[in-house]
Amino acid sequence: MENNKPLLQLIHLKKYFEVGSSFFGKTKSYLTAVDDVSIEINRGETFGLVGESGCGKSTLGRSIVRLYDPTAGQIIYDGEDITTISQHEMLKYRKRLQMIFQDPYASLNTRMTVSEIIGEGIETHNLYSGQEKLEKIYDLLETVGLKREHASRYPHEFSGGQRQRIGIARSLAVEPELIVCDEPISALDVSIQAQVVNMLEDLQDNMGLTYLFIAHDLSMVKHISDRIGVMYLGKIMEVCGSNELYRNPLHPYTQALLSSIPIPDPKHNKTHKRIILQGDVKSPINPPEGCRFNTRCRYVKDICREVTPQLKEVEKGHFVSCHLFE
Ligand code: SF4
Repeated sequence: MENNKPLLQLIHLKKYFEVGSSFFGKTKSYLTAVDDVSIEINRGETFGLVGESGCGKSTLGRSIVRLYDPTAGQIIYDGEDITTISQHEMLKYRKRLQMIFQDPYASLNTRMTVSEIIGEGIETHNLYSGQEKLEKIYDLLETVGLKREHASRYPHEFSGGQRQRIGIARSLAVEPELIVCDEPISALDVSIQAQVVNMLEDLQDNMGLTYLFIAHDLSMVKHISDRIGVMYLGKIMEVCGSNELYRNPLHPYTQALLSSIPIPDPKHNKTHKRIILQGDVKSPINPPEGCRFNTRCRYVKDICREVTPQLKEVEKGHFVSCHLFE
């Protein structure tokens, strides 16, 4: 029987970091990196998560794989609540839930060979040993477009794109179901970005993977995502199908993000109106009351400065958090 339940559900998830306290420690200040996020990711889909740097998207990704302990809310993975389970209990989920990082060099141990890097997870989870393990490592290298002779080399001997392929092979080694891809192409040359995205898509087709694909710009998630969530100052502003988001963006922030993507056709570029956002992104240590976007929104009303809008389904499968749609 097909399992129609979401593979991952985040329910009112919060992750705050304490950043200081008053002299007597009575009042504390917090950075509200992720603030009341509720989303679902279905099996086999790619959910793109987009927002400017500092909006909390990477913290959200790291909280899902429990590199950070959430402050409140729930993470339900395949029907099980993993929000507060111990790191020991989390071990069995680490096999199912993997992460690919933005900076492939920083995330690879430079003193380990590629074979040791990829083999680490295989050993931790007792998947293969001896010659079988080595064959698995060779297979994985070939799967990500590298060669078996690369197994004995060190990370510094590779280009940025090749290092990201090693990072991908490492996460695939434990045969995961869901991979949190945290800006996996942002640090790569534009010419390499499409190759890595195509490879991730092929791997998804062949292995039935589910992705949370984090990026800072909507143009990067357009082709790979089935659905997209737009995040601003710790909150989700809009969620819908990828095509719907590009065709019919409803939230003023999404409209501004989309308008900043250059259009290749110069004829259309003349009629394409760019929405210039006023003001800077406020600090998540002291975010605005009401709607987080109210300091930059051209449609701001009094209510926006007082009441936080909730994410609501305004059209089938299209969710928006904005007082304009209430
Ligand atoms: Fe703009 Fe108000 Fe909507 Fe926020 S709630 S996006 S400030 S109109």
